[in-house]
Amino acid sequence: MATAHIIGAGVSGLSVAVELARAQFRVVLYEQTGHAGGRCRSFRDATLDAIIDNGNHLLLSGNRSALSFLETIGARDELIGPERAEFPFVDVKSGERWTIELNKGPMPWWILDKDRRVPGTRLSEYLAGLKLLSAGDRTVKQLFTGQGALYERFWEPFTVGVMNTEPDEAAARLLTPVIRETLARGADYSRPMISRRGLSFTFVDPALKWLSDRGGEIRYNCRVSGLENDGKRITAINVGTGREEVKPGDVVVSALPAWFAGSVLGTVSAPDAFVPIVNVHFRVDGARMPLMRHHVLGLLSSMSHWLFVRDDVASVTISAGDKVAAMDKQEVLNTVWREIAPEIGQDPAQLPTRRRVLTERRATFKGTVEQIVRRPEVSTRWHNLVLAGDWIDNGLPSTIEGSIRSGQTAAQRLLKSL
Ligand SMILES: Cc1cc2nc3c(=O)[nH]c(=O)nc-3n(C[C@H](O)[C@H](O)[C@H](O)COP(=O)(O)OP(=O)(O)OC[C@H]3O[C@@H](n4cnc5c(N)ncnc54)[C@H](O)[C@@H]3O)c2cc1C
Repeated sequence: MATAHIIGAGVSGLSVAVELARAQFRVVLYEQTGHAGGRCRSFRDATLDAIIDNGNHLLLSGNRSALSFLETIGARDELIGPERAEFPFVDVKSGERWTIELNKGPMPWWILDKDRRVPGTRLSEYLAGLKLLSAGDRTVKQLFTGQGALYERFWEPFTVGVMNTEPDEAAARLLTPVIRETLARGADYSRPMISRRGLSFTFVDPALKWLSDRGGEIRYNCRVSGLENDGKRITAINVGTGREEVKPGDVVVSALPAWFAGSVLGTVSAPDAFVPIVNVHFRVDGARMPLMRHHVLGLLSSMSHWLFVRDDVASVTISAGDKVAAMDKQEVLNTVWREIAPEIGQDPAQLPTRRRVLTERRATFKGTVEQIVRRPEVSTRWHNLVLAGDWIDNGLPSTIEGSIRSGQTAAQRLLKSL
C-alpha cells in the first residue's frame, strides 16, 4: 500500500488525508504542534472554564466542499443554523434593526419588496452587484463607489467578514465566487451555519477518528524542516533530527500555512501579508440568550462585528483587526461588552468576571490584488508533491471552504497524475 505523507493537520491537511485514504493510501500526517485543527480548533480555556473556539467561524449552506467533507466523516449534524437564510443586524449607534432574508431560488425576489430590503437602500444599489462579474483589479470600495446604504450596511460588513480585509483594499474579484456559490443561488445555499459544540467536534475529532479507523496515523510534535529530492521527485522528508523516506509510488502533500511554506518547500510564491482577527469571549451565567434562534447577530457602527452565542458563552468577532489587536485589552473588553450586553439581556455596566480577548495574528492572508497574485498552483515541479492550504490558488478567500476544497483538489490532482 502506498503512503501519503501529509505535512500539517489543519483542515486542509485533514481534507486531503480523507480523500487519499478513500483512494486506498496509507495516510501519515505530520503536525508540529500537539493538536490538530490549526487555525480551526476548540480548546478548554481556563479563564472562562469553558470550551471555546480559537475564533468564531461562520459557514454558509452553499459551502459544498465543507459539507461533503463533513458527510464523509459523519459529522454533518455538528453544523447547525436556522432553517431560513436569515441574517439579523443591529446598528448599535442608531438602534435600528433589520433582518435580511433571502428567498429560495436564484431570482432575488426579496429585493423587489421595499420592506424586505436593507433599510434605506434602493433597488438600483442591488443591481450594481452585477459589477462583480467584471471586477477586474478593482477593490470592493472602488467597485461599489464606497457610498450608499447598501455599501455601508451590506458590502462593507460582508467583505470584512468574508475576506478579513477592509473594502478599500479588498480585491472585489475574490468576492465573486463566494457570492456565486451562495447568495446568488438563493436561500438553500445561503443559510448561516455554525458548529453546534465547537470547531474540533465538527471538523477535527471526527476526521481523526475516521482516519484512524482506516489505518491513518498522526504524528504530533513532529515538525517538518525540509524535503529532499532527486531532481524528479521528493525522496525524503526531514523531521526533527530524523528523516522519513518517500518510496516510489508514495505521495507528499504540503498543507502548511503560507508563512511556513518557504522554509520547508524552498522557493514558493506565497502571500506574505496577513491580517489578525480578534475574538472577545464572555462567560455569562444565566444569560437570556434571545439569539438562539439565529445564533449570529451582525453589529454595525460598533467595534464588534458579529456576536455568536453558544451555551453560556457570548463571543464577538472583530475582523480586519489590526487596530483593535493593538489596543489596550481592558478597553476592548469594556467597549465590546457595552455593545453586546443589551442584546443578551445583560447589564452593560456589569462586566462579567470571566472574560477573554484572543487574537489570531495571522488569521488569514490579506485579500488584496497584490496578495492573491502570489497564490501558487496546486501542482509543483515534482510529480509526487502537491500543495494544499487556504492560500493556494483555489479562487476563494482564506476560509474553511477554501481550505477543504484545496485539500480535495490536491488529492484529485495527485490521483490524476498517477
Ligand atoms: C480567528 C479566525 C476566524 C476565522 N473565521 C472564519 C470563518 O468565519 N469562516 C471561515 O470559513 N474561515 C474562517 N477562518 C479561516 C480558516 O480558519 C482558515 O482558512 C483555515 O483554518 C486554514 O486551514 P489550513 O489547514 O489551510 O491552515 P492551518 O489551520 O494554519 O493549518 C496548518 C497546520 O500546519 C501545521 N504546521 C505548520 N508548520 C509545520 C511544520 N513545519 N511541520 C508540521 N506541521 C506544521 C500547523 O501547526 C497547523 O496545524 C478564520 C480563521 C481564524 C484564525
